[in-house]
Amino acid sequence: MQKFVIAGGGTAGWMAAAALSRFLGKQANITLVESDAIGTVGVGEATIPQIRLFNHGLGIDENAFVAATQGSFKLGIQFDGWSGDGQHYIHAFGNIGRQLGLVGYHHYWLRALKSSKTNDLWSASPCAVASAENRFAPVEEKPGQLPSGVAYAYHFDAGLYAKFLRQYAEAGGVKRIEGLIADVRQDPENGTIQSLQLESGQLVEGDFFIDCSGFRGLLIEGALNAGYDDWRHWLPCDRAVAVPCEATKPLTPYTKSSARKAGWQWRIPLQHRTGNGHVYSSAHMSDDEAASILLDNLDGCALDEPRQLQFTTGKRTRAWVKNCVALGLSAGFMEPLESTSIHLIQSAIARLLQLLPGDHIAEADIAEYNRQTDFEWERIRDFLILHYHANGRSEPFWQAVRDAEIPDSLAHKIALFKANGRIVREHEELFTEAGWLQVLIGQGIVPEGYHPLADQLSENDLVEFLKLAGQHAQRIASRMPDHSDYIARHCAAQ
Ligand code: FAD
Repeated sequence: MQKFVIAGGGTAGWMAAAALSRFLGKQANITLVESDAIGTVGVGEATIPQIRLFNHGLGIDENAFVAATQGSFKLGIQFDGWSGDGQHYIHAFGNIGRQLGLVGYHHYWLRALKSSKTNDLWSASPCAVASAENRFAPVEEKPGQLPSGVAYAYHFDAGLYAKFLRQYAEAGGVKRIEGLIADVRQDPENGTIQSLQLESGQLVEGDFFIDCSGFRGLLIEGALNAGYDDWRHWLPCDRAVAVPCEATKPLTPYTKSSARKAGWQWRIPLQHRTGNGHVYSSAHMSDDEAASILLDNLDGCALDEPRQLQFTTGKRTRAWVKNCVALGLSAGFMEPLESTSIHLIQSAIARLLQLLPGDHIAEADIAEYNRQTDFEWERIRDFLILHYHANGRSEPFWQAVRDAEIPDSLAHKIALFKANGRIVREHEELFTEAGWLQVLIGQGIVPEGYHPLADQLSENDLVEFLKLAGQHAQRIASRMPDHSDYIARHCAAQ
């Protein structure tokens, strides 16, 4: 493959451009086409810890990146009201306690829970303890010491992130063309894409095309008819309304997700503003009501008019077809409940680099890429459905999602957990054991039993083991400064 053409310059397009320029080197011929007239989706501000690997792979300095994107740090997601009004829990990143022998921490915790000898689960999570006190600092792991158990991600301004990556990619040799793609030209015999025709008449030719054109999927669907798996029967929210408001104190090191009448509202703290949005089901709520619920639940004054977005939850049936791979929204969309979309771009880029075609494109590579993509998307989908399935709310929307059928793969996971607290993850499944545990427990699914080997500790040792886990979490968190102080000292936006 000589010439790569990226169609679209949102987060997906510029992430792809930056990564290709970094890993294929300056001799690669990479062109990105974007249209200012169309613009980008303009949301997508919360991430998960894997983004640090992406930035690190590009050699990006963390503090410079956070400053350039008006960013803040994220230790988890706080879920308010998902199990009923007034209830909340956090899905904190990193570990909760530590494994002892063959058995995960939570089995010991479950044993103690049965005899009411326990503190709460989250007291053994360094990220949960730090979040509750609005503290943050990256913790360096030291050889010979217990792992800290801390993991973190970022909140950032998506527009500034794309700008940041654009500078990076252009410095790495990526050529940017501003223009509207009017037509996708294909080989009349085998259907592979040959070029993009711009409105100006210019032809942008390439050997391999990366569709980052957003929801419209200009190449993957418009030209190649890849198909779309609609998952709205499992995840019925199909709209969002978003509005930024002024930044308020304290600067929380976590995203907030608050359940509403027919959906949920996000709150994402940045340095210069707070991002807010309300994801909802149009079958249960009008756009006007959704906007008014959002505006009534802001921490500060709105800085703009609310913006409506529509989506169809699901994924492209085939993300790679012929000489085109779809990344970002053109590959599909799942609501931002666990901030997974940018991660899906990142992992798709990594997969593409692993299976990068040489002189010709092997059907086996395409099949493998699509197989891995399906697995990754389906496991994330199951994790999102769990939040809805295990809700404890009474409104019609929440009753409907609680009663709806769930995929067999999720039903199996829940059954395993309910019986003996087992959390089985397969292959490279994204969410960790600690992640599943927190959402399951946080939303009220308490197992009947636990791993029998957890009984090997004496009563006293069990109490001591749990206490030490809590002390460790407390010690790690207490060494962290206030989140805003950390940012002011290291990565304040200029
Ligand atoms: P877009 O931003 O839509 O970019 C499409 C690009 O294609 C643009 O540059 C456009 O100009 C170009 N284009 C389109 N048509 C043409 C044409 N004909 N000619 C030329 N150029 C064209 N993700 C997260 O990880 N965390 C979150 O918290 C999060 N929140 C979200 C909330 C909502 C409500 C939504 C809808 C998404 C959210 N996402 C989130 C997802 C995230 O926004 C996207 O995954 C990410 O922005 C990637 O978008 P994109 O680049 O694929 O598409």
